[in-house]
Amino acid sequence: MTTDTARLQPLRADGAPTAGRPVAPRAARLRPLSLTDVRITAGYWAELQHRNQSAILPHIDRWLERTGWLANFDAAREHRLPVDRRGREFSDSEVYKFLEAMVWELGRRPDPALQQRYDAIVARIAAAQEPDGYVNTKFGRPGQQPRWSDLEMGHELYCIGFLLQAAVARARTGHPEDLLVEVARRAADLVCEVFGEDGIGSVDGHPEIESALVELYRVTGEARYLEQARLFIDRRGHHVLKEIEFGREYFQDDIPVRDAEVLRGHAVRALYLAAGAVDLADESDDVVLREAVARQWQRTVARRTYLTGGMGSRHQDEAFAEDFVLPPDRAYSETCAGVASVMLAWRLLLSEGDPAYADLIERTLFNVISTSPASDGEAFFYANTLHRRELGSPPDADRPSVRAAASLRAPWFEVSCCPTNVARTLASLTAYVATADDDGLQLHQYASGTVSHTRVDGQELQLTVTTDYPYDGLIRVRIDSRADQPWSLSLRVPGWATQGASVTVGGDTRPVNAGVITERRLWQPGDEVILRLPMNARFTYPDARIDAVRGCVAVERGPLVMALESVDVPETASVDQLRVDASEPPRLIGGQVVVRCRIRASTDHGWPYSADGHQPEPDQTMKTADIPLVPYHAWANRGPSTMRVWLPLDAPHT
Ligand SMILES: [Zn+2]
Repeated sequence: MTTDTARLQPLRADGAPTAGRPVAPRAARLRPLSLTDVRITAGYWAELQHRNQSAILPHIDRWLERTGWLANFDAAREHRLPVDRRGREFSDSEVYKFLEAMVWELGRRPDPALQQRYDAIVARIAAAQEPDGYVNTKFGRPGQQPRWSDLEMGHELYCIGFLLQAAVARARTGHPEDLLVEVARRAADLVCEVFGEDGIGSVDGHPEIESALVELYRVTGEARYLEQARLFIDRRGHHVLKEIEFGREYFQDDIPVRDAEVLRGHAVRALYLAAGAVDLADESDDVVLREAVARQWQRTVARRTYLTGGMGSRHQDEAFAEDFVLPPDRAYSETCAGVASVMLAWRLLLSEGDPAYADLIERTLFNVISTSPASDGEAFFYANTLHRRELGSPPDADRPSVRAAASLRAPWFEVSCCPTNVARTLASLTAYVATADDDGLQLHQYASGTVSHTRVDGQELQLTVTTDYPYDGLIRVRIDSRADQPWSLSLRVPGWATQGASVTVGGDTRPVNAGVITERRLWQPGDEVILRLPMNARFTYPDARIDAVRGCVAVERGPLVMALESVDVPETASVDQLRVDASEPPRLIGGQVVVRCRIRASTDHGWPYSADGHQPEPDQTMKTADIPLVPYHAWANRGPSTMRVWLPLDAPHT
């Protein structure tokens, strides 16, 4: 082992783990804090983290055993493959993502039972590793396809990527000598031998190894991991993979990363690749590469992203469609694309400091990632449609579902990438709350809890955040540390807060615009900064180029996208019979957002096109009602329902 332990954060004197964080660039504009620097103690995110730890993780553990995906490693050790292999070619990756989630949980607080389970699973994986470092249960044994023989769809490097990510998390949470880290290093060394400068000159069809190699370089200091990531990123785009039915765009092998103008092809692949490219750019001061990815991000957000932050509208190849092709009823918006989008935006935020990245992280966390798990943590959305037309039938509780077919959240999928991705994101959520730089602290997301950071000069910065965000816009930040030097506290004013936000510092209140506000003072314990964000419900209209929702309006409140669900409209059979009266702004009644609607009967005319669009005669008896909306992330928790985010306006031809 050549681990450069000087680069690794040691355990604290009291034995508690420290320094755990998903991304740690060597030289970024903003420095990430660790899972123990930030504590979320109450409110929305605390509840989600609790659900993750108490329900989602045990649920995933049960399904990994039940499906045999964990037992594949035992079968490998006992030479029972391929006969006893279960699951798709990438099922190993779910075990690794589950391990990463466990590691972040263990990094936040000791849990002997979880620790024991983690150790047991790592032992099973280590026992399945081949003497040369190869670890994958699908390839390479007699009766199986040879190693690296299906780079387009085999996912071998993708799986190893998640193994490395889990090991990086373990090393960063105070365990650089852990068995999992050893397994990962041996696998990474093999990858460098096989795919190095003189090796196989190709890439994996599913990016992920790129970011993982850079992260492993960050914790070990082993330069060849960084070099290997560079080779993978520079090779892609030069037609190194075989053409498949979806074209080379599907795995971003159509255009080199540095030359592309927008994210395209399979959304999760495109986003993982872009995240890896930012990692590489940060570690090699490659400004051109980082700026290329930032440009692609800007155009993707401006033209290819749903209101929820969801990405990818094509079911056929799980891909980005052309600009402005964002149909709500065909939204794919895979949960994993949401996770990957947060990974990318977080890296760009650390690199560049632009609050637009934190805005998208917030939107995606509230409206994609937290939409996936059911309120009991035992079922998930894979695709996140913005319009459900049919009640559909509940998914089978005892069998894995087809990925995007279920009308309700499903307990597990044949391709079950999303639940484990949600789990590792929720377990490391505190990492996205705040950052530090030489001048002070920056708050990007708002949740009740504490933030502490020790500056290079040894000065402690500590603060407590108290808020009921996102249900209330009052955010109270109290300074807990004493300073002998002035320092800066920055708060993000979300992009949606275009009017009515204000800040109070030292008793003075002033209006603030969306962006970042920075207060530099000689802060003393008890000093307060109070941010007030406008939490009235508001109408949101789409760009006219998004044809699929022309003539519609959505309702948002703070960072939450709202949805109309049929269980809240008992007097109609379908949410599609409602037309919004936009002359009446959405209101908040008893904590619930309501919108004034007219209810129009739907009549079939034999042919759904006509000179007047089948406009009904004005009908004075047409019923008007105040219809309650739910946060989009909470829909489909009350049995089968129809739902829509974009609501037709009550106007001619809508
Ligand atoms: Zn997924």
